[in-house]
Amino acid sequence: MSDCLFCKVVEGSLPSEKVYEDDQIVVFKDIYPKADVHLLIIPRQHIASLNELDETHDQLIASMFRLLPKIARQQGLDNGFRTIINTGPGGGQEVYHLHIHLLGGGNLLGFA
Ligand code: AMP
Ligand code: ZN
Repeated sequence: MSDCLFCKVVEGSLPSEKVYEDDQIVVFKDIYPKADVHLLIIPRQHIASLNELDETHDQLIASMFRLLPKIARQQGLDNGFRTIINTGPGGGQEVYHLHIHLLGGGNLLGFA
């Protein structure tokens, strides 16, 4: 999907600060951080939102979730972290390529 912002991040045609990538997943810094650490965990594959998931994505989703504590540790978030997934207009989703927000460190305000 060429008009998708995060597909461009995956391809590298849009600059981003990547902190991790493997054959299925890319992790990069949110451009407008809401905490000292604010990362986005995305699949390489274009999936618009949680609403588009089916059973073919089960392994991918498990891998994304299992990666979260590893990335948090790598970022020094030893005291815990917050994860958020916005879905659809009612959930405040702005970019329609599935992503998990990983937030932590200082300046983490109440419910984001
Ligand atoms: P959401 O509201 O869950 O769809 O969140 C989209 C997030 O993507 C927001 O936190 C934005 O700050 C972030 N964002 C938008 N464009 C970029 C970009 N080019 N690079 C990194 N983060 C971005
Ligand atoms: Zn995409």
